[in-house]
Amino acid sequence: MSQINGAVLVLSGPSGAGKSSLINKIIDDIGECYFSISTTTRPMREGEEDGVHYHFVSEEEFKREIEEDQFLEYAVVHGNYYGTSMRPVKKALEEGKLVIFDIDVQGNSAVQNRLGDITTSVFITPPSLSELRRRLENRSTDSQEVINKRLEMAKREIQRVSEYDFLLINDDLDETADKLRLIAITARLKKSSDEINAFVVKWEES
Ligand code: 5GP
Repeated sequence: MSQINGAVLVLSGPSGAGKSSLINKIIDDIGECYFSISTTTRPMREGEEDGVHYHFVSEEEFKREIEEDQFLEYAVVHGNYYGTSMRPVKKALEEGKLVIFDIDVQGNSAVQNRLGDITTSVFITPPSLSELRRRLENRSTDSQEVINKRLEMAKREIQRVSEYDFLLINDDLDETADKLRLIAITARLKKSSDEINAFVVKWEES
């Protein structure tokens, strides 16, 4: 990828961790961002809109995009495909934006492999498994079966938290938002290795 001036902020953590609420709290304070819209084969939930929350596609279409090598990363989560298309991310990075991903631990590891030098990663979690269960049950948007699946996934994901730059324990929304704001502002300062090399050459010559 050429001429990258932007940077990447990866957010992972279980549904119910408060990722969307946190982003809404800080979005006006962290400069120009592009919030990556993933493509998924999972059915649309009530209140969701195609092209806003996700690009909803059939499994056949998703597999075609895999073959065409259009994804920066993709993974199977809860039995459905989820992926990040390369093209809009590349454009946003070239425009110098902070690209924000809400992806799972597999996605983080793929993004680290491809864009590690400009990526800052944050794992966000409620203070405990029982608190996560309480939040998911209070939301009452999911069946008990789905809630159990999410809890199982959260238990697996938390094992890989050491792969992240930061762990945020979201027990107070305002306090956690303050921390995430600092991280997002700092994330933007990361430079790609190409940019650093070019700077070093220029620095030596001038
Ligand atoms: P949900 O179905 O609740 O919206 O998302 C389920 C999980 O999929 C979440 O952990 C979310 O972070 C993850 N996810 C959403 N989009 C992507 C993506 O493009 N790539 C990967 N690897 N994970 C994703």
